[in-house]
Amino acid sequence: MSLVVVGSIALDTVETPFGSITDGLGGTAVYFSMAASLFAKVSLVGVVGEDFAQQHRQLLESRHVDLSGLATWPGRTFRWHGTYDYDLSVAHTLDTQLNVFAEFKPSLPETYREAQFVFLGNIDPELQLTVLEQIRRPKFTLLDTMNFWIEGKRDKLTEAIERVHAVTMNEAEIREYTQNYSLTAAARQIMALGPKVVLIKRGEYGSVMVTRDGAFLAPAFLLEEVRDPTGAGDSFAGGFMGFLARAGRVEVSLLKQAIVHGGVVASFTVEDFSVNRLARVTHDELNHRYAEFQRMTYFEPLA
Ligand code: AMP
Repeated sequence: MSLVVVGSIALDTVETPFGSITDGLGGTAVYFSMAASLFAKVSLVGVVGEDFAQQHRQLLESRHVDLSGLATWPGRTFRWHGTYDYDLSVAHTLDTQLNVFAEFKPSLPETYREAQFVFLGNIDPELQLTVLEQIRRPKFTLLDTMNFWIEGKRDKLTEAIERVHAVTMNEAEIREYTQNYSLTAAARQIMALGPKVVLIKRGEYGSVMVTRDGAFLAPAFLLEEVRDPTGAGDSFAGGFMGFLARAGRVEVSLLKQAIVHGGVVASFTVEDFSVNRLARVTHDELNHRYAEFQRMTYFEPLA
């Protein structure tokens, strides 16, 4: 079923202890689309500048990502420059150049407005609200955010949270937003605002999903090689939403499979810079890792 994503499209310059890349293809909407398109058809909403290479469009089109909602404006594409040290869970931002992204006003093509699954990437909550207003009858909407909006636009963020089915944040973000250290209590606070599902990202330790049925824990895959953690969160959301959009339904057992798919896809993203690994991953590899995940986390019930 139809899946819309709105978020940044970036040229990222990244250094990690294991290598570096200059102006690599990145941004929330790109990582999300590359991940979700492994499972379902994705329609992207975003903006790039005139310097955005044709080969990047072609890569997304080769995954059947609908780019009719991608605007090209005079000027330069959004750029982010970050570094990581051996604690790969913390990105240190050295530079952010908003460029054409500064004036971004998401406008959805008519064909996107019937979308049933929607991912509101980490952008100004006022823009997230304008996207929600343009979608007629969404079945499942997931919102992401970051400390910048939690601190700077708390009221608008709360308004947006009140209108979505699910929220994803990392541990630090949900603690800051709710001012509560306990993740389950923090998730319950968010659910009291309206959402039925809260996905908490815990970096290399995996994720926690809280619904009215309680909490579900998904560890992260134990990898042999990690080169660049950029985009892990967005590809996690992409695997999660892509899997649900393919199923076309939302129920607790599917949500659990979806969260594991999110973790599986993110585990490939971090094996290389930019979307290089995501672009090569096969369904056999995904299925193999899903089965490995089951094996690594299964334990016998007591006799
Ligand atoms: P994550 O999944 O959290 O690692 O997201 C990484 C992506 O977020 C990178 O590809 C960046 O281009 C993008 N990004 C970094 N800062 C911002 C920002 N202020 N607004 C939107 N996107 C950003």
